[in-house]
Amino acid sequence: MSTSTQTRNEPASGLEQKQSAAPSAVQSGPSFRRGDAMNYQAWIAKAAKQPMVLETVDLGPLGVEDVEVAVEYCGLCHSDLSALNNDWGNSQYPAILGHEVTGRVTAVGPNAKGLTVGQRVGVGWSSGSCMHCHQCMSGHHHLCPQVQPTIFGHRGGFATHIRAHWAWAIPIPEKLNFADAGPLLCGGITVFAPLAMYAKPTDRVGIIGIGGLGHMAVKFAAAYGCDVTAFTSSERTFDDAKRFGANHVVLSKDSAAIKTLGGSFDLLISTVNVTLDWDALIGTLAPNGRLHVVGVVLEPIPVAAFSLIMGQRSVSGSPTGSPVAIETMLDFASRHNIAPQTEHFPMSQINEAFARLEAGKARYRIVLDADF
Ligand SMILES: [Zn+2]
Ligand SMILES: [Zn+2]
Repeated sequence: MSTSTQTRNEPASGLEQKQSAAPSAVQSGPSFRRGDAMNYQAWIAKAAKQPMVLETVDLGPLGVEDVEVAVEYCGLCHSDLSALNNDWGNSQYPAILGHEVTGRVTAVGPNAKGLTVGQRVGVGWSSGSCMHCHQCMSGHHHLCPQVQPTIFGHRGGFATHIRAHWAWAIPIPEKLNFADAGPLLCGGITVFAPLAMYAKPTDRVGIIGIGGLGHMAVKFAAAYGCDVTAFTSSERTFDDAKRFGANHVVLSKDSAAIKTLGGSFDLLISTVNVTLDWDALIGTLAPNGRLHVVGVVLEPIPVAAFSLIMGQRSVSGSPTGSPVAIETMLDFASRHNIAPQTEHFPMSQINEAFARLEAGKARYRIVLDADF
């Protein structure tokens, strides 16, 4: 682990160790009061496609392996909008959305490891995993069958406080801009993971969709050393894509232009949620090339077996990443000064922020500042 990364701390004092030994429900002191529960506030999604409302919530006793984080900033991800609108058909209400949190640890459960009160951490798409299955023990916690999504069956970050298993509250490097680091916790790791898994610095990489995810992907791929082509639906984003580090820009709906790129890409990362000319895009893959999907497009992607077989090409997908992958991504972002381009809204204007995202106007990632 790099010295530039803020690492998990061992308990620093006898006081903290003494607190750790006590059951969480009877802990006292400024960092954990039972009465605090009455002060928690959250923006609640009560039903699909309805404005969220601010309410007081009781989070109950802190789990023994959990930490509590006072939310200072929370990014607004397209998945929050999908959850609010029940686009995936699995939303349950009431729900507290928000899964790109940066904040400070306010309480530490008695069996939580490596974090101290006051530490800067981030919580992303996942807030917990079983820690004992094959995937968790292999370091692939994000693939745990019991991985806990932050906004489904768990209270998310559009709230004064959020809770997470200690392993999923990731220390934020000091060098990163704390106010803009939130989107790295979900969008950032989502696009960094396929680069870390499959790309070499000498590769030609295409990023499909220059939005919340894609603009971070271009920055990561450029910093990694790749030759980067941005595929975007609008000529208006050409200049931005180049500013983010793209060497080339192509209109994603221009099938004729895409066909001229045949056989050129080692890796295509698709961040879009709309149907594109997949056949033409797969045709741009070099031998051994890979189309990797991280954007949730609900319509199936048709793939001709022949086009995979002849070039030994692959089509794949991935969800976010493990805690160590997130920590590695934050370290890389810190080293290369990579941050999302953000627009900040006060949390109290959360519904206006959702409307802006839904209208496709966010440039490129919205972050809500906790004012409630
Ligand atoms: Zn997300
Ligand atoms: Zn597990």
